[in-house]
Amino acid sequence: MKNISVKLKVVIFLLVVVCFGVSLNYYFNSYIMSKKINIILMGPAGSGKGTAGDAVKDTYGLLKMSAGDVLREYRKDEKNKYAKTVNEYLNAGKLVPVEIANAIIEDFLDKNIKNYKGVIFDGFPRSEEQAIFLDEYLKKTNQTLDAVVYLKMSPEELVERLKNRYSCAKCGEIYNKVGKKTKKEGVCDVCGHTHFVYREDDADINAIYTRFEIFENETKKVIQEYEARGLVHKIQANSGMEAVKKNLTNLLNDIIENNKK
Ligand code: ADP
Repeated sequence: MKNISVKLKVVIFLLVVVCFGVSLNYYFNSYIMSKKINIILMGPAGSGKGTAGDAVKDTYGLLKMSAGDVLREYRKDEKNKYAKTVNEYLNAGKLVPVEIANAIIEDFLDKNIKNYKGVIFDGFPRSEEQAIFLDEYLKKTNQTLDAVVYLKMSPEELVERLKNRYSCAKCGEIYNKVGKKTKKEGVCDVCGHTHFVYREDDADINAIYTRFEIFENETKKVIQEYEARGLVHKIQANSGMEAVKKNLTNLLNDIIENNKK
């Protein structure tokens, strides 16, 4: 009998230790998570969301979650359940159905988020349903949205940009025949690769206009909602990459200062 009660005490003691450890871990993680930075880059196709995100992500240890890149990567593997569907929507310039896009993006975030100090959302959310999903995801992971950057540019300039956009087939660095060219002709500045690709949805003028329409009809509503929350910072997307980068850097520095208070 005495033996049983000693064993019971040991079990209770171990349970208390485990519970204490789990709670401590939970509160510690919550604390770290709440300090993470989350910003969204919004703007029409070709406004430079990806390039802007790339320019600052490493300095701040942030994950750049480009919805377009994640979906393009997903469609590559035919074994993926929705690869064919995703491919069709991407080529047409249409939004991938919300349940599919959200599930793919949630999976990507779950797998990658822990290694970073926060996320730069590029091209997500693009609709009100996606904005609700993002709010819920941030709440669930005990995080907040710090700012929304709206890159503004006229459709005429955007079409010129998109028609001339190409990227390195190996590392994905983005270039433009009338803007940012490679320093040495035909050689990627970043990785030295010599093969470049054009996106199908940039080569098709209908896909370009479809993307503009979606931005006008769906994404702008989301920007308005964020504006009502006081989160939106507008940047002229044609002010040059250095100016865009400087604006973004100032914004991130302000967020970090605010988080310390
Ligand atoms: P761009 O900004 O030039 O349109 P992206 O790489 O951001 O380029 O998006 C390319 C395509 O990927 C879109 O036209 C759409 O088919 C798909 N896509 C991107 N973001 C989303 C999203 N948030 N929801 C659904 N589909 C998306």
